[in-house]
Amino acid sequence: MLPMPALCWLCRLPLRIAAHGLCSVCLRALPPLPVLCPRCGLPAGSAEVACGRCLGAPPRWQALVCVSGYHPPLRRWVHQLKFYRITALRVMLARLLLLSWLDARRTRGLVRPDLLLSVPLHKIRACQRGYNQAALLAQPLARWLGCDGPDGVRRSRHATPQHRLDASQRRRSVRGAFRLEIAVRGRHIALIDDVVTTGSTVGEISRIFLAQGAASVQIWCLCRTL
Ligand SMILES: [Zn+2]
Ligand SMILES: [Zn+2]
Repeated sequence: MLPMPALCWLCRLPLRIAAHGLCSVCLRALPPLPVLCPRCGLPAGSAEVACGRCLGAPPRWQALVCVSGYHPPLRRWVHQLKFYRITALRVMLARLLLLSWLDARRTRGLVRPDLLLSVPLHKIRACQRGYNQAALLAQPLARWLGCDGPDGVRRSRHATPQHRLDASQRRRSVRGAFRLEIAVRGRHIALIDDVVTTGSTVGEISRIFLAQGAASVQIWCLCRTL
């Protein structure tokens, strides 16, 4: 019997390079991003300079890279990865993130990270799910880029589910929720999460990285809620 060919996750046609996960036609047809602020990743007037929000209250990180807003097909894939255990999506999604970062590096001159870390889940949540979706994305990225990682941040307490909180409650709820188990002094870090909404979680972890002497922090995510 012939082996089943790998199929494109969108159009279900056979792929020439199985590991890509998406055919080149579907890759080109993914919804384009609007112009985004290079720092906070929210819609802005320019992709080159930080937006007014960032001038007033800059995020803790230096740059944000995302693949998409929080809409299909990325939103569906994130749900499947997170809640339906379709972990076979991870290499295709990690590759989309890599392509977005390569594009940002070319157009915005982003520094190449030497440490690539994932946003951790609390132990209980990780046990319930059996895996951390951000670490699933970060593992192939760390390998492809030859970076250390993706473990090194621990969640020391269970945070209230973020979607129940407003922005200032979110910031307070994550304060002190993380600790580092890796030396970050002088290192350029990419912090990986599946979705960034208010940025309070990645902001708190970035604050810790910089307080411990990290040289810079980039946030890489599949979806930025815009
Ligand atoms: Zn396709
Ligand atoms: Zn901004």
